[in-house]
Amino acid sequence: MYKISKRTFLRQACIASAGSVCMNQLLQGGEYSSGMVRSGEKDLWKWSKESIYYEETPRGIRCLVCPNECTLKSGETSTCRNRINHGGKLYTIAYGNPCAMHVDPIEKKPFFHFMPGSRAFSIATAGCNFACLNCQNWSISQVSPKETENYDLMPAEVIKETLADKCQSVAYTYSEPITFYEYVFDTSVIARRNHIKNVLVSNGYINEKPLRNLCKVLDAATIDLKSFDESTYARLNAGKLQPVLNTLKIFKQEGVWLEISNLVIPSWSDNADMIKRLCDWLFQNGFADTPLHFLRFQPLYKLNQLPPTPIPVLENARKTALDRGIKYVYIGNIPGTAAVSTLCAHCKKVIIERNGYTISRNLIRDGSCSFCGERIPGRWT
Ligand code: SF4
Repeated sequence: MYKISKRTFLRQACIASAGSVCMNQLLQGGEYSSGMVRSGEKDLWKWSKESIYYEETPRGIRCLVCPNECTLKSGETSTCRNRINHGGKLYTIAYGNPCAMHVDPIEKKPFFHFMPGSRAFSIATAGCNFACLNCQNWSISQVSPKETENYDLMPAEVIKETLADKCQSVAYTYSEPITFYEYVFDTSVIARRNHIKNVLVSNGYINEKPLRNLCKVLDAATIDLKSFDESTYARLNAGKLQPVLNTLKIFKQEGVWLEISNLVIPSWSDNADMIKRLCDWLFQNGFADTPLHFLRFQPLYKLNQLPPTPIPVLENARKTALDRGIKYVYIGNIPGTAAVSTLCAHCKKVIIERNGYTISRNLIRDGSCSFCGERIPGRWT
């Protein structure tokens, strides 16, 4: 097995900007290709494991991990490109073969109320159960692990690297971790034994049973609520809204720390009425204390003809959310904005001052505002 050295790792670790991965560097070789292995067809079974959630049907094997519920005949590959029906059994081929691996500030995920200032050892394999037209990481999300340059890093090795680099959490991120569920779960179990936290950065498109099981080993999740409209979910993401809303409720019930993002895309998800409905649903369903991040869209992938989100649209979205009772609302992907700092919901003073992803002042003491004593929701230590 390839064992990455500390030196190699530090060389490869990078803090990518605005939520995207340095995958172009990875795929184009250069220094990032050092120590990577090509996981072609011959290596397929080295990084495979029988799936946990599937059933036999008369039409083939049905995966039960996410609402796509792919039904596969023998030899067929799934929509997410990393599950295969092999001889009547369902296998994941995204196990121990991450194609992206970086150290990130936890704020980049984004988490603003979870262990601020800590470092997350971040991994992703290829594959996704959505097909978003605006995908930031399409070069890894819209391909199979067979097509990417991958590290050979089994769960125990992930934790070794996490500890060696003094990270406080493992983040399952960049592509869609729900599709590499078994790798996430097994790594999370070992992380817990080593007092490392587990955080999920996800589209939230997962069935209830695997989700509740995953909640047993997860500490926090940040979910990208892509819009508040079923037709937009179908056209923009090739997904559905309702299962994502169910996921938000389940995380809350299971006590996993939750933050929510909404990428505001011109002409797709910037409708003021849709944003109002999204905020009303969150408030009415008990998410007033859940941090909400409105993120600026940048032209990318299949939506590269659109302009970036105008800043006033994001400011209006934030105002709408605050007016409708959401207490902690942020704006992301705008350099220099003050809307990344945390204000106490009671006295309105700045209690965490951020400069991009860097914290310049933290005035939360024992989970409370040091000015007025208001309890600030979050996991602070
Ligand atoms: S996880 Fe992948 S294989 Fe399973 S249902 Fe979802 S898209 Fe299909």
